[in-house]
Amino acid sequence: MIRELLESRAGEDYELYARTINPQFVRVLRTIGFDRVWARAEGQYLYDRDGNRYLDLLGGFGMFNTGRNNPRVRAALVETLELETPGSVQLGVSLLPGLLGEELLRRTPPRLARVLFTSSGTEAVEAALKLGRAATGRPRVVSAERGFHGLTLGSLSASGDAHFTERFGPLLPEFAHVPWGDVDALEQELRREDVALFLVEPVQGHGVYLPPEGFLVRAQELCRRYGTLFAVDEVQTGFGRTGRLFAFDHWGLEPDLVTVAKSLSGGYVPVGALLMSERVYDAVFDSLEHSVSHGSTFAPNDLAMAAGLATLHELDDAQLVERSARLGDHLLERTRPFLEQFDVVRDVRGLGLLWAMEFAEPQNGSLAWRVMERVRTGLFAQLVVVPLFTKHRILTQVAGYDLPVLKAIPPLVLTEADIDDFVDALADVIGKATRPSRVAGLALRAAKGATWRRPHKGDAGFARGSDQRSVLESRDAEVRSELA
Ligand code: PLP
Repeated sequence: MIRELLESRAGEDYELYARTINPQFVRVLRTIGFDRVWARAEGQYLYDRDGNRYLDLLGGFGMFNTGRNNPRVRAALVETLELETPGSVQLGVSLLPGLLGEELLRRTPPRLARVLFTSSGTEAVEAALKLGRAATGRPRVVSAERGFHGLTLGSLSASGDAHFTERFGPLLPEFAHVPWGDVDALEQELRREDVALFLVEPVQGHGVYLPPEGFLVRAQELCRRYGTLFAVDEVQTGFGRTGRLFAFDHWGLEPDLVTVAKSLSGGYVPVGALLMSERVYDAVFDSLEHSVSHGSTFAPNDLAMAAGLATLHELDDAQLVERSARLGDHLLERTRPFLEQFDVVRDVRGLGLLWAMEFAEPQNGSLAWRVMERVRTGLFAQLVVVPLFTKHRILTQVAGYDLPVLKAIPPLVLTEADIDDFVDALADVIGKATRPSRVAGLALRAAKGATWRRPHKGDAGFARGSDQRSVLESRDAEVRSELA
């Protein structure tokens, strides 16, 4: 049935999506020339209907660590469907959730003793907020400025970036934010001894900011001293992304709460989980009456559990965590010379295969740069993302709304040759984008207001997520050819 449907309606993708789901988002994709009709995907590649291959350095926002359409994960799903397993009895349990719970706990520090499954990252964060408050009997939550934890109201209240929160207030009460890496500010908050949890990404995905030396270890110590739960959000950094299975492994941390999602199911099935200490579990699920204090209908379901088990085995067998560390080093090694080569490159950073390049005002054509950035901060990074895609067939993203940062978060199965192709393409694109005439031309258009504009209230296409919000909006189709 699905095959016939797909064949009989082939090519209607964008028109149908615009009519039934989100016309603004389709408008954005069309304007910047990202409106490819995708035919299939495999590993680190996407193929359009003309058979062109694209290197996917966006990886579905980091959910394809084991590669798109991974055969082992697919086989586990097919097998589970064919077994007609008796999952989601609700008043009863099945074996698969326990098996995945066991595998997750086997790979994490002994302090983590229980798993609560969810169906997404933001739900795992919501669970951490709820259970953290109940376990400590404290109201407050502290997180880091510029952090991102999801788009439901609790997670949004913890997210420290106004671009995501404006228009959706009032947010939940009793949330505070401290500057990233500021131990003193954190201690000031925790000293009040009314903070249930400190929620932190080990590497901030929005902008790819690595933690300052010693910050996370010190934060954990402070949490222990003041009776606050130390909650690490590994939704983006988990499952090998940073070259260790979990990013907290880099610093030997032992959190009380850990959130995971994205790549846990190999990208096939929605899944998430909150890993928690026995102390947290015991404090919340403290009686028969409280045995179902938190949960949701679909979590855990057998398909997500089977996909999770297969994904963990694939990460082990294909040695993808080690591969992430090795290829991440290669990517840094090849791109750090850009700091010398291009005036416009201010920083190159990364951990494993979570990589970013930050741009700043160049010496030549600085007036043009300033005009361009005044119209829209981060515009230069968009000028890199668009031709990387349209000319070199490489899918990347800007690392967050209004940031002049290019980001890569590819499937961990990519090769050294893929990285080398990316580096060559990047050199070509940055070289062209920084030609004074090009920058001046674009700045002029920007100044005239005919080309770029900030998203506004009606732009529903910008409202879904951190990554979509960064998509370039252009009114002028002419610009597409200029960028190509
Ligand atoms: N936490 C972090 C660190 C994330 O990067 C994200 C998503 O990008 C989330 C939470 C939310 O996850 P989801 O999109 O599955 O709700």
